[in-house]
Amino acid sequence: MEHVRDVSELPKAHLHLHFTGSMRPTTVLELADKYGVRLPDALTEALTSGEPPKLRATDERGWFRFQRLYDAARSCLREPEDIQRLVREAAEEDVRDGSGWLEIQVDPTSYAPRLGGLIPALEVILDAVETTSRETGLGMRVLVAANRMKHPLDARTLARLAVRYADQGVVGFGLSNDERRGMARDFDRAFAIAQEGGLLSAPHGGELAGPSSVRDCLDDLYATRIGHGVRAAEDPRLLKRLADRGITCEVCPASNVALGVYEKHEDVPLRTLFEAGVPLALGADDPLLFGSRLAAQYEIARRYHGFSDRELAELARQSVRGSAAPEDMKTKLLSGIDDWLSAPVA
Ligand SMILES: [Zn+2]
Repeated sequence: MEHVRDVSELPKAHLHLHFTGSMRPTTVLELADKYGVRLPDALTEALTSGEPPKLRATDERGWFRFQRLYDAARSCLREPEDIQRLVREAAEEDVRDGSGWLEIQVDPTSYAPRLGGLIPALEVILDAVETTSRETGLGMRVLVAANRMKHPLDARTLARLAVRYADQGVVGFGLSNDERRGMARDFDRAFAIAQEGGLLSAPHGGELAGPSSVRDCLDDLYATRIGHGVRAAEDPRLLKRLADRGITCEVCPASNVALGVYEKHEDVPLRTLFEAGVPLALGADDPLLFGSRLAAQYEIARRYHGFSDRELAELARQSVRGSAAPEDMKTKLLSGIDDWLSAPVA
């Protein structure tokens, strides 16, 4: 039997994890029970089997179905204690997977009605993140993400809110949901507000749509990181641009396959991006539905893309460098990565 280093012991930063999508399946089932929420059969099935639901999110109906499953899970989060539980469990799972730094993304709008408004909702989240970070030792921050399906004015409101909490745990601003809808530049004002407020800009792009969507994120939204960005692999000039500018792509291999962006693991152009020198940060996206967490993404890189331990260590370094972690935290994680690599294989 081949002895290899344990990827769950490789220190790393997790830069692409959605709030509801981070939940443990058992927690959603428990909360649904507590509140008498009737979950869609497809969701219950996915949560009990650990198998991702069959989704063809590359067509609009499939994406819509994915969003509906997500909404059902989200409707189980009602009280501040549910939010606290989610944050604590997400942190525990991340720590177990070797993460030393987690940036979780959330659109507080979804929780505002039940938590007394947008500001109280964000405060409950930030409070939970602060407490959890202190208790678990995991460095943890928040990206506030606007929803592309909503009006650009809503995004501006969120950007202002995000900036207001920049010194209380918010480090970045994102844009999620169907990138085929509307134009990135509809959200340029929101991103300008976020950037002027010192937040990093990390919109989703190059997942459901091709390289032009990544270019729009760079040109119109001042992206310093790209959520996914995998489809940049279809354009060598764009790859070079991402590499030259050091734009980190938050690549989520299991998610790409679960949502049908690529047919099978081998098709995700992880190696193309890596060889082109594009900094990468592997992420789990929505482990609740996709059934795999952070360390599993590194395992996928090893198993399906032939990444050696040295290359896996480099992926981990890139995740740390692309993060908003303070310098001392980065130094600590980077030296932990060196230790992982230099330790003898058992
Ligand atoms: Zn995402």
